[in-house]
Amino acid sequence: MTNVVQGRRITIRGIVQGVGFRPFVYGLATGHQLNGWVLNSSSGVEIEVEGSEPALSAFTMALQEQMPPLAKIDEFNTAKIAVQEFKHFTIRHSQPKPGEYIPVSPDVSICDDCLQELFDPANRRYRYPFINCTNCGPRFTIIKDIPYDRPKTSMTDFPLCPECLQEYENPLDRRFHAQPVACEVCGPNIWYEENGTTIAEKEQSLQAAREAIKSGKVIAVKGLGGFHLACDASNSKAVNTLRSRKRRSDKPFALMAFDLQTIRQFCMISPKEEELLSSRQRPIVLLDKIENASLSNAVAPKQNTLGFMLPYTPLHLLLLEPADDFPDVLVMTSGNLSEEPIAFKDDDAIQRLSPLVDGFLMHNRPIHIRVDDSVVRMFNDAIYPLRRSRGYAPDPIVLKEKHISIFAAGGELKNAFGFTRDRYAFLSHHIGDLENYETLRSFEEGIDHFEKLFRITPQAIACDSHPSYLASQYARKRAQQENLPLVEIQHHHAHLASCLADNGLENSEEPVIGLIFDGTGYGTDGTIWGGEFLIGNCSSFKRVHHLQAIPQPGGDLATRTPARMALAHLWQNKMEWQDNLPPVQALSKIEIQVILRQLENSINTPLTSSMGRLFDAVSSLIGIRQTVNYEGQAAIEMEAIAAPDENSFYEIEFKPEQTSINLHTFWEQLINDIRSGTPASVLSARFHNSIAQLSLTVSRALQSRYTINTVALSGGVWQNRYLLNKTVALLKQNQFRVLTHKRVPANDGGIALGQLLIAENQLKKN
Ligand code: ZN
Ligand code: ZN
Ligand code: FE
Repeated sequence: MTNVVQGRRITIRGIVQGVGFRPFVYGLATGHQLNGWVLNSSSGVEIEVEGSEPALSAFTMALQEQMPPLAKIDEFNTAKIAVQEFKHFTIRHSQPKPGEYIPVSPDVSICDDCLQELFDPANRRYRYPFINCTNCGPRFTIIKDIPYDRPKTSMTDFPLCPECLQEYENPLDRRFHAQPVACEVCGPNIWYEENGTTIAEKEQSLQAAREAIKSGKVIAVKGLGGFHLACDASNSKAVNTLRSRKRRSDKPFALMAFDLQTIRQFCMISPKEEELLSSRQRPIVLLDKIENASLSNAVAPKQNTLGFMLPYTPLHLLLLEPADDFPDVLVMTSGNLSEEPIAFKDDDAIQRLSPLVDGFLMHNRPIHIRVDDSVVRMFNDAIYPLRRSRGYAPDPIVLKEKHISIFAAGGELKNAFGFTRDRYAFLSHHIGDLENYETLRSFEEGIDHFEKLFRITPQAIACDSHPSYLASQYARKRAQQENLPLVEIQHHHAHLASCLADNGLENSEEPVIGLIFDGTGYGTDGTIWGGEFLIGNCSSFKRVHHLQAIPQPGGDLATRTPARMALAHLWQNKMEWQDNLPPVQALSKIEIQVILRQLENSINTPLTSSMGRLFDAVSSLIGIRQTVNYEGQAAIEMEAIAAPDENSFYEIEFKPEQTSINLHTFWEQLINDIRSGTPASVLSARFHNSIAQLSLTVSRALQSRYTINTVALSGGVWQNRYLLNKTVALLKQNQFRVLTHKRVPANDGGIALGQLLIAENQLKKN
């Protein structure tokens, strides 16, 4: 009975293409003496096999248990079929079917096997900057369409040489159907140019680029998802030159070092952080800095962390190869001017970056879509994303059930958009701040690309309810043009829903307490919200408490000038602007007069309950920052000096019967402390502790009023680790269940996920 031949058809969905899945199936099938075939379809992998029942079950089991490292199975179906008497097991050609799709793998850092070959003089790809295999290499950045086959990638112009072709066609080879496979003979290559003239090619170009860096020059390096600007991180002159050319005065630069050992000289690394740094995503990881003189202070002024990443492509490894006279650490910041999107097309990069650099390390493998480096941190031994991009996007968030196809436009700053289709939420790579034409174009190109890649035709559109966000304007226009339902979503509700979905609770009807602490977001009453205590789920929400609304004198100018927010907070609470207070000293007499007039006559003073602006005001009053050069700077520098062991806090008066939380007594205590000469590090700690304490007080009140025990923390302010640590600890000590982000950022880079879910629920209601 057991030897009777039976037939099976297996269909698999998930990340199963471009990851060595078919050779794996081939190896397994032939190993179990099964005949039949395997192919990549536009919806996944399809297999037909025949053999004895025991062999078939062993095969089916092994398929799921031993799959290749990069594969991820979301759906696995088997069905009995009639025996067709196959004579062999074969790999068949891909069969595109209209409308079908599968998730596309993100770009993957170089694997250990390729790394070893890269530095093996006997290997034919020795020192070849584009070595890769089915387990590693570019994916999302080179793919133009599905199914994922070479002609549909930017490798289409590099026909395989006989040797590469042999590897590509051999099911037992590590490079079987690895679409970007190439070698020195047939593949892309590198050159180094200065002022439009090629100075060196191939291996010599690496030496030329390294010489340039050694001599203190700033160079552009074409990488995986775009260009980096690179220089010697220990050379202050070079770093400052880069700062002034890039017009980026204080914002920290990302760093790259050859290996973990090098990073250990500058930062504390836990075993979990080590894992994260070396993971196949190779994100920039924010690490605690060790005081060390050998890095320029201009790399990350006034920060207690450094953002490090390991080389993730062979080219980066070759560029950073250790040598006695070569710097250990390079600045590797995105190749753009200030807030523009990262350059990724050669012509555009040369045009835009030429004024910023002394040379270009180029290559001729086209980048199809621009993708920035991801930025993450560890929190309680779990990953806490700050920017979800290269290595993570376009991996979908797998949802609990099927969804209709919706497009969500995301927010204005740190934009990432999203789509739902079936059980997937596809969130885009980091698009950036939608404040200029370049970024808007990148946003639109990204949307087109996602729709094409995942064959999505949205049936509805979701956006932030802000009247003037460019992303919302795009969404409104598109909904009108395509006659699609449009759902406008309150910003902080989207944060709350995003945190719920991030924790797999998108279907939970039970409302949770949302502590949504944010810089800014458009409120349902037309004021600017951001210090919000909400009750809600992924369908609806209620604003139960919020920080007292403060006039923001000068509107956006106050966002860039913490001193203005400090004075506004004091004015609102009828407290004096004493001459010796840092914000008063920082502003001119005339400016102070103007601010007073604005406040007294309500001229250009939009109201805000923003937690971010409260952080700005405190940072100003305790003398840390009076004006900022990048978003969040005042809060980040204040967090950096907070005394870790200080546990006292200021009482913030909370009256459960009032929606607005008054800060008057808080300011009194803080001003008293300032007057008595308490050090800024203690003031900063006490302020952070006060917000953690307030979070607990309000959560407790809501717990007893609504019998809710779950608290969700979302919004940009939760990027503050000091506050996050203290608050989560306090809430947990008091038996709350605490939800924090783990797959999408707490900042606006995560709100598209919330928008998608709220939109669908609201459409269902209507
Ligand atoms: Zn590899
Ligand atoms: Zn070749
Ligand atoms: Fe926000």
